[in-house]
Amino acid sequence: MSGNITFTMIKPNAVSKGFMGQIITKIAEGGFTIKALKFTRLSKEQAEMFYAVHKDRPFFDALTDFMSSGPIYAAILEKENAVEAYRNYIGATNPEEAAEGSIRKLYGTNIQANAVHGSDSDENAIIEGNFFFSELEKF
Ligand code: ADP
Ligand code: MG
Repeated sequence: MSGNITFTMIKPNAVSKGFMGQIITKIAEGGFTIKALKFTRLSKEQAEMFYAVHKDRPFFDALTDFMSSGPIYAAILEKENAVEAYRNYIGATNPEEAAEGSIRKLYGTNIQANAVHGSDSDENAIIEGNFFFSELEKF
């Protein structure tokens, strides 16, 4: 059975362009309930920890530079089948390949600066949510 929790970040490119309000509205319109929300910034070391699974990929250093380059929003979202539903909703990793109307298509700059993160499994959704939020910060 699939879980009802996923984790997202609004990435630095989308925040610096002022898209956070529109993206949060779009998240709500998609039927996702916000269980936790934080405006914060990752250090390079924290970005490396968060994306450790990608440490051997050629884009790792550029990705962690980018993700620590400015403030982000981190959020825990709830919906039935949240992980898959949210990944479908945000669109493909590369905004050029993302479906019309998806968050990455609307607000992504390129394959790296693709506006938002979405967890890839129920297990990672919990790990990623706990990376940013204490139990008291989850509603
Ligand atoms: P997703 O975020 O869709 O789950 P991945 O987990 O494969 O995608 O990659 C994590 C993040 O790394 C992506 O969201 C994107 O910011 C960046 N990324 C992925 N592939 C590339 C690439 N080929 N070149 C540059 N950055 C990439
Ligand atoms: Mg991923």
